[in-house]
Amino acid sequence: MEQYDVLIVGGGIAGASLGAELAGNFRVGLIEGEPHCGVHATGRSAAFWLESYGGPLVAPLAAASRAFLASPPADFSDRGFLSSRGALHISRDGWPDIPPGVQVRVVERAELERLVPGIRPDWRNAVLEPGCADIDVAALHAAYLGQLRRHGGTVMTDARLQSARPSGGCWVVELDGGGTLSAATLVNAAGAWADEVARRCGVEPLGIAAKRRTMVQLAVGKQGLRQMPLVGDAEGTFYFKGETDSSIWLSPHDEIDTDPCDAAPEEIDIAVAIDRFQAVVDWPVLRVERSWAGLRTFAPDRVPVYGFDPRQPAFFWCAGQGGFGIQTAPAAAKLAAALLLEAQPDAMVAHVNANALSPMRFATAR
Ligand SMILES: Cc1cc2nc3c(=O)[nH]c(=O)nc-3n(C[C@H](O)[C@H](O)[C@H](O)COP(=O)(O)OP(=O)(O)OC[C@H]3O[C@@H](n4cnc5c(N)ncnc54)[C@H](O)[C@@H]3O)c2cc1C
Repeated sequence: MEQYDVLIVGGGIAGASLGAELAGNFRVGLIEGEPHCGVHATGRSAAFWLESYGGPLVAPLAAASRAFLASPPADFSDRGFLSSRGALHISRDGWPDIPPGVQVRVVERAELERLVPGIRPDWRNAVLEPGCADIDVAALHAAYLGQLRRHGGTVMTDARLQSARPSGGCWVVELDGGGTLSAATLVNAAGAWADEVARRCGVEPLGIAAKRRTMVQLAVGKQGLRQMPLVGDAEGTFYFKGETDSSIWLSPHDEIDTDPCDAAPEEIDIAVAIDRFQAVVDWPVLRVERSWAGLRTFAPDRVPVYGFDPRQPAFFWCAGQGGFGIQTAPAAAKLAAALLLEAQPDAMVAHVNANALSPMRFATAR
């Protein structure tokens, strides 16, 4: 039976980034139920870094991750993962609720029309967040998996945790289809399946809920879109950004309660997305080039969860990354690694309030 100090369940960005931080200090194994890592939320994101997204407890994690994403250490990657885009928060009446510390400025009408030619006149208010950038998610995820392996960790695909039980100071982990592993500590980085994995380990779930979000790649009768800013409304009912010269990625900002699954887009959500988009600009809609959906996963308070379970100290939660799991991954992984290593946090996250992210906050409610 293979033995690990730490066995991570889930090969998305959360599991890969934490595994990369831990390998070299621990014997790390990572099990992914699918044939490839990253096929669920991580492979389906809108791929942007937007500091204002996720609220005041998440913004510090995104901010702390930025320098690493823009200019990672040479032994991690020989190039950065960000390309600058900027984001426009627009509204007909109100103003966006921007967390403190996020750099934004008001945009006057003439500039708004230059940035988004054809924007309809009723979108009166606009705020620019210049720091918004695209993230090369596939490269980042691959770099984390590469670092995990280089530092002696093991990645096992087609390896789904079926159940786990504590035995003699270790977890005995049974895999679907046979196979048994042993680990001192289990990390739950199973995304939408985090509560299910907890149950399978005899650990009480936290109430982590999966919500479907739809993305549409839309060809439009407009040119020069590739570099245009991300545009979203202050009320949170859509966002879109340029993808190619004449196509965009568009989302209706939906949040449909769903059981954990291989999420697929529904026609109605695509139609809603297009309807909302047509109320923003006068660009002709030509066709849907492709569409997809993924599951964003939230704890009851919509704050991510990093830390040991209050009742099972050999079970570590790394879950509930909502719509910000990519842009916060570098800092979140450093923070979670420090907790697992019982070490001082890296300078990158020294200022982050780890207690606010701990599962201990649910201890009294359970
Ligand atoms: C449409 C959409 C747009 C988004 N846009 C952005 C964005 O622009 N910026 C951003 O930062 N974030 C964005 N997000 C959020 C981001 O994608 C997620 O927060 C992040 O990918 C979560 O990573 P994860 O590793 O926790 O989950 P996942 O990538 O889902 O990984 C969890 C893995 O666990 C595996 N697993 C489950 N159960 C088991 C088991 N029993 N045994 C073994 N393996 C198991 C699954 O197969 C899966 O691969 C978006 C998400 C969606 C859906």
